[in-house]
Amino acid sequence: MTDPRFPRLFSPLKLRGVTVKNRIFSTGHDTNLAAGGLINEHLVAYHQARAAGGAGLLIVQVSGVHETARYTSHLLMATSDDSIAGYRAVAEACHPYDCRVFGQLFHPGREIMESQDGSLPVAYAPSNAPNERFHVMPAPLSLRLIDEIVEGYGAGARRMATAGMDGVEIIASHGYLPAQFLNPRINRREDGYGGSFDNRLRFLRRVIAAVREAVGEDRAVGMRISGAELDHDGLTEEEVLAACRALAADRALDYYNVIAGSSASVAGAIHIVPPMAIETGYVAPFAAAVRAVVDKPVFVAGRINQPQIAERVLAEGQADMCGMTRAMICDPEMPAKSAEGRLDDIRACIGCNQACIGHFHLGYPISCIQHPETGRELDYGSLKPAARPKRVMIAGGGPAGMKAAAVAAARGHRVTLYETAGRLGGQALLAQQLPGRAEFGGIVTNLTREMELAGVTVVKNMRVNGDLVWREAPDALILATGATPRRPLFEGAETAHVVDVWQLLRDEVNVGASVLVADWRCDWIGMGIAEKLARAGCRVRLAVNGYVAGQRIQQYVRDQWNGTLHKLGVEIIPYARLYGADGDTVYLQHMTSGEAIVCEGVDTLVLALGHEQETLLAGELDGWPGELHRIGDCVAPRTAEEAVLEGLKVGCAL
Ligand code: SF4
Repeated sequence: MTDPRFPRLFSPLKLRGVTVKNRIFSTGHDTNLAAGGLINEHLVAYHQARAAGGAGLLIVQVSGVHETARYTSHLLMATSDDSIAGYRAVAEACHPYDCRVFGQLFHPGREIMESQDGSLPVAYAPSNAPNERFHVMPAPLSLRLIDEIVEGYGAGARRMATAGMDGVEIIASHGYLPAQFLNPRINRREDGYGGSFDNRLRFLRRVIAAVREAVGEDRAVGMRISGAELDHDGLTEEEVLAACRALAADRALDYYNVIAGSSASVAGAIHIVPPMAIETGYVAPFAAAVRAVVDKPVFVAGRINQPQIAERVLAEGQADMCGMTRAMICDPEMPAKSAEGRLDDIRACIGCNQACIGHFHLGYPISCIQHPETGRELDYGSLKPAARPKRVMIAGGGPAGMKAAAVAAARGHRVTLYETAGRLGGQALLAQQLPGRAEFGGIVTNLTREMELAGVTVVKNMRVNGDLVWREAPDALILATGATPRRPLFEGAETAHVVDVWQLLRDEVNVGASVLVADWRCDWIGMGIAEKLARAGCRVRLAVNGYVAGQRIQQYVRDQWNGTLHKLGVEIIPYARLYGADGDTVYLQHMTSGEAIVCEGVDTLVLALGHEQETLLAGELDGWPGELHRIGDCVAPRTAEEAVLEGLKVGCAL
């Protein structure tokens, strides 16, 4: 019996000979879990966890169909029979949970992200039209190479079918090769693949035919396409609809998987994994437009992070399946919890992009800041009961302490968590006050629920001191006392109005009409404060100790935010370190030339210079002989991701 609030979400869907048990699927997404271009046990365990959690359909990350498709050094390749065993392993791991598994066939064309060996590869596209994001000038594809690539799609599909996968999806989204052929501004060929609409569609039609022939009549064949590429010269919605209409008339596809954006430009790429500042479910209208011109099921994704949103998309007839990829990166059991009506237990994705796509872009296996078990399934996929239950005292109710408490209690320890403030959450409570970051507070809600379910005792408004520790004499003590703002000495500080970010977010200070934000961390905090003050009507200068604002945060978040700050008129000063102040003048120093950058007319200098470890309690524990652990910012100030991960590790180690 499934929760009656989700009548559509938990109804089956038939795609040719394949029945999907519910309407929740994971879109294909690169994980960096595989090695050597082949699926390994880490990737199998990752998918198995989502299948066990109740997903109806998992679409495995892209597989290259030709040597020229290697857009990263860790792309899965479907170009040899060596790939079959991996596809089979995923299918066999997921099928026992009645979860269907599709493969994804891919050629990026000119969207080559990185090199294999440090030298730039030749990228191929329909024409020599340059890409803005990766600064690639491609070589035009020869007719022979086109034939080889089409054959590669067929061969890859055959391998997936041989392995027992239930379907195959062709990537025509995000400005990748099939979309490059469709786009008259990129495809300037004068042969049978360019010019007229039918000619530009020829490559995709050949690919679809090759895949269908390879997989037979029963397996599903779908296509992923951007409803609009939202790029300065990307495919428009009208062009996409014309293509879908024509392909629908061919009747070769079993579903259309709609997303938005393009890899080709910075603006278009933001929609590949839309960040927190973009509204939930925003791609659904594009899916609805496609659904109006085709007669097969339409899938959609894009910030669908809760079952209520998915049910609404289905109820309004905008789509037939909802891609909830990050929702299941964050909580693999989200589908099962939804079906059982345990909505409060769902660990909702907050769209921060930090450890999922953020890790991918840094070349690491994907994970989640709230659920660091993701990507580490073989090590942390299931909690082992404690060998000997202990009395555990935790000092600090920020993300590190909360995660440690939840994990330790879930393993059977008796855990008491103490928080100095009246509310749990630590710095996350401040972070959620930054513009467009309200969802960050979700991490507190989610960890609070995890602690409740595990049976943690929480004591608020009490600072742990040495006396309390000696009196309670816990079997294990965990210090998660966090950090405080760093306020270094600098010349003239006493002559200027200087405040730190925490004071500002707590509404403790007035700043006047003109502010300068000195941003050492180059992350969310400086950008968020700049936006907040600009929206309040201030003239804002954001001096970043790096080469771009947001240098250290995930690129889609950074790029989207830089656009917002530009629109708001925030003046960004790169390569700038804080040097001194004199009344209403702030002196910066260029990081490489060493020259002064003089900023006059500054009413308030806002310090976003990072944090320092809170070590008061540690100092009071001199001589404490018991088991002692330190985690999170009190060890070294970093981010919520490291705090939660260290909470998990210590919770498992007790
Ligand atoms: Fe969602 Fe952030 Fe986790 Fe990614 S890291 S899945 S965006 S909560």
